[in-house]
Amino acid sequence: MKPLIGITCGQEQERLFITRYYGEAIQKAGGIPVLLPVTGDQRLFGDYEQLLDGLLLTGGDDLDPALFGEEPLRGLGPVDPERDFFELELCRRFAVSHKPVFGICRGMQVLNVAYGGTIYQDLLRQLPDSLEHRQKAPKNRVSHRVTVENSSLLRGLLKQSTLRVNSFHHQAVKDLGAGLKAVAVASDGVIEGIERENGFVLGVQWHPELLWQDHEEQERLFVAFVKAAGRIKKES
Ligand code: MN
Repeated sequence: MKPLIGITCGQEQERLFITRYYGEAIQKAGGIPVLLPVTGDQRLFGDYEQLLDGLLLTGGDDLDPALFGEEPLRGLGPVDPERDFFELELCRRFAVSHKPVFGICRGMQVLNVAYGGTIYQDLLRQLPDSLEHRQKAPKNRVSHRVTVENSSLLRGLLKQSTLRVNSFHHQAVKDLGAGLKAVAVASDGVIEGIERENGFVLGVQWHPELLWQDHEEQERLFVAFVKAAGRIKKES
């Protein structure tokens, strides 16, 4: 069987929400996408960790600053502590079992906090000289440039040291979590990519699921993620 990739979702009162592009990207990359409804039932966390070969942490609302020891600042958007807890706990369990994790936008921030890092709650107020990270162009268009660290997993996949990406965020990684390194940075210094030294633990601040159709280098991120999940599956 192909690798099973869990995809996290947002939730409203009665609905789960997730854009269709994450699942399509995983499918195209050779994986089986499995949507994970937010739950507080910790018995399920272990089941998911055993069942799944990879975890895709998706975009969404802001992270609760209490998770990294801060009071809420002005400019903080809506938060969902239940979703935060679910995703952080899954992320930590996947770290222990060395299963691949790919974090996109909010997902990269979840990854950072799971490893003990912190987040800018609102770039506009905390880094007022930063670039426009909420692009007004259509979502499948690139807007700002990032520089990618040499000899990183991300550099090997993108096969270029600088490229333009899309951008829809007002929060960003501040202090890096333990064992994570910044591997892509925007020209204003905002961290746009993080990874762990070993295995496939990668986060990007942009949205490759909206770019892969027109940008081969972005498709390679999903392909490598699913391949890494496939290797774990064979080993276990
Ligand atoms: Mn950006």
